[in-house]
Amino acid sequence: MAQEYDFDLFTIGAGSGGVRASRVSASHGARVAIAEEHRVGGTCVIRGCVPKKMLVYGAQFAEDLEDAQAFGWTMDKPEFSWIKLRDNVLAEVDRLNEAYKTTLDSHGVTLFNERAEITGPHEITLASGKIVTAGKILIATGATPHVPDIPGCELGITSNEVFHLDNLPKRVLIAGGGYIANEFAGIFNEFDAKVTIVNRSDQLLRGYDQTLRDRLLQISMTKGIDFRFHAEPTGIEKLDDGNMRVSMKNHDPLDVDLVLFATGRVPHTRGLGLQKAGVELGDKCEIKVDRFSKTSVDHIYAVGDCTDRVQLTPVAIREGQAFADSVFGGKQTSVNYDYIPSAVFSHPPLASVGMTEGEAKNKLGTVKVYLSDFRPMKNVMAGRNERSLYKMICDGDEGRIVGLHMIGPESPEIMQAAAIAVKAGLTKNDFDATVALHPTMSEELVLMK
Ligand code: NDP
Repeated sequence: MAQEYDFDLFTIGAGSGGVRASRVSASHGARVAIAEEHRVGGTCVIRGCVPKKMLVYGAQFAEDLEDAQAFGWTMDKPEFSWIKLRDNVLAEVDRLNEAYKTTLDSHGVTLFNERAEITGPHEITLASGKIVTAGKILIATGATPHVPDIPGCELGITSNEVFHLDNLPKRVLIAGGGYIANEFAGIFNEFDAKVTIVNRSDQLLRGYDQTLRDRLLQISMTKGIDFRFHAEPTGIEKLDDGNMRVSMKNHDPLDVDLVLFATGRVPHTRGLGLQKAGVELGDKCEIKVDRFSKTSVDHIYAVGDCTDRVQLTPVAIREGQAFADSVFGGKQTSVNYDYIPSAVFSHPPLASVGMTEGEAKNKLGTVKVYLSDFRPMKNVMAGRNERSLYKMICDGDEGRIVGLHMIGPESPEIMQAAAIAVKAGLTKNDFDATVALHPTMSEELVLMK
């Protein structure tokens, strides 16, 4: 008997959420196709988390090589090649891109390497003109960098281009004070560039605990990163010597050779035929969905950054998995958004789970706050005057941990394990009852006063 549609599922966007949803739907027996206009893997793999983390590793060697001398190592002046690091990172991205394609292929998912648009209730038209039909449509198109509309904004770059630079800049202006700004400030600073963060407010990393943000600001300034607050860029002009002059509110203009916009990411929902299809969008053009990722149209779903719920890769993956299990696996599943750990891979990194102190006080009234402010053993020996800070926020007499925040070496690695305990509802007493693992930085978690 002829099938009603060409596919059971058509996914638009082969990033973290779209690939997971498509592969799992196929393993549940669905006939699946996926369209991707760029490279399979999406922001995280191609121009986000993965290449960024490799640059963070590369940058950390600058400090490690310096510190090594205190541990008895002598070496001739180490040399750094940006081109070598860049090409190795891009080669790893190529490898992962192939691995993602192989995964789709091995699950029998049909890949269309072209743009797709919804053109009828169950109809999708591809850039080549090919028309396909599908029972269900999943939008997983992610988000794109937001660039302020100022004169000369085209002279700046975003995180999309930053992995492909031909030369390391000597003076970088980073607009924004969020994740990407602080991560790339750390990277470029370790590579000896003069970095200036230019932010429209006086708040870095909005949403993170104030104590961590203050500590990152203090360490970053000590490392030589400059900050200009209440300083929204108003224009960029190209100078005769090839440099750029950036004018900004409340501050003098600054001459630099690279401008990086890290001013947030907006849902990538334009030109997909969504409005015509009747899919409701929110104020930021995000796709509105219910807790099962269903849009206002019964057979159209959306997962990941295009829904602007929590802009994090592991969340998109969970949403994709839950969609596939609910729609094709016969098991109605929704994502639990409580206690999602997150990290900023700055130098040093910071990591958090649960409520900040301010949020906890607003929501719960009286809370108990425990702090550990310490200098890691390795920093002491290396003569590096850089302190780590852990903060635990506990609720009520029982002392249930409702927030845990850390800044210091390896804090994202430590947080992933600690977040399990926080998510499980453990208390300060449970942590204290665990014998310290000595000597580590993470033992501070069970020794907090
Ligand atoms: P963020 O949302 O983290 O930060 C945006 C920054 O830009 C804020 O400081 C904001 O200021 C400022 N800003 C926003 N709009 C303007 C404007 N028009 N002019 C000037 N400044 C502006 O965005 P990012 O671009 O750094 O990252 C995007 C998202 O990607 C993050 O939210 C995160 O979800 C994800 N991401 C996650 C990473 C991780 O998990 N480690 C790493 C990188 C990205 P204000 O605070 O005043 O609004």
